[in-house]
Amino acid sequence: MSDRASLELAGKVSLVTGASRGIGRAIALKLASLGAKVVICDIAEETAEKVVAEIKGQGGDAFSAVADVRDSEAVKAMVEEVTSRWEKIDILVNNAGINRDTLLLKMSDEAWDAVIDTNLRGTYACTKFALRSMMRQRWGRIISMASIAGRIGNVGQTNYAASKAGIIAFTKSIAKEVGSLNITANAIAPGFITTEMTDKMPQERREAVLDFIALKRYGKPEDVAELAGFLASDRASYITGQVIGIDGGMFA
Ligand code: NAP
Repeated sequence: MSDRASLELAGKVSLVTGASRGIGRAIALKLASLGAKVVICDIAEETAEKVVAEIKGQGGDAFSAVADVRDSEAVKAMVEEVTSRWEKIDILVNNAGINRDTLLLKMSDEAWDAVIDTNLRGTYACTKFALRSMMRQRWGRIISMASIAGRIGNVGQTNYAASKAGIIAFTKSIAKEVGSLNITANAIAPGFITTEMTDKMPQERREAVLDFIALKRYGKPEDVAELAGFLASDRASYITGQVIGIDGGMFA
């Protein structure tokens, strides 16, 4: 086992939402490998516990906190649980997200609300409650998962793209609000990353996407985790209010 005290994020407490699978899981494992303690937040306890076991198996420290990010009271209670167990939150990764793709004329209010509430309202609630600890200690990292769809739009994703564009504007605004307290806020805008979210897409749509990717391959959750690990570190201390694309070179 490595000497964890010498690792880059040793002593830091991180909270990753939607961390039981896909990109969130990869980010949680990455932060743990850099020495941070990790709270695995998800709606599903069973899968979250598997990631906790993986991290502990690699010598790290983690626990699972079940919360639906759409529910502000649940988020508040989760943040209180984290700060009572580990005293603080240094790094927040707003990763929990869903899509309900359909053309606008066919979109239900339920599909609109579910996506906006999970992606945008969830980011608002988690940031609002985690921020207090960061402000107290005058150090913090807020990393939120946007999407290329939030920058260039996408057919069938008016709800999703609007939620992700909202996350970008939210990130730029909060970066200005708390920058003087040494807290950075950045958004990551992935392109096509192979996860359960993209596995659900029709095969022909997945194949068509490849034509637009310069590197001619899909991304992996670990690719995104590398970027998140960097943004969480002191190496990224002068980067804030940015949207960083990670898409293999994807063009509109
Ligand atoms: P994923 O495989 O579908 O995983 C999403 C995670 O979020 C799951 O663990 C899910 O829990 C959790 N979650 C969903 N609703 C939640 C809620 N209300 N409260 C708490 N947790 C919730 O997705 P992914 O592909 O890894 O995507 C992760 C993030 O990256 C999302 O924000 C997504 O929009 C963004 N993104 C992904 C891609 C891509 O190509 N994959 C591209 C651009 C942006 P359950 O397991 O219980 O459902």
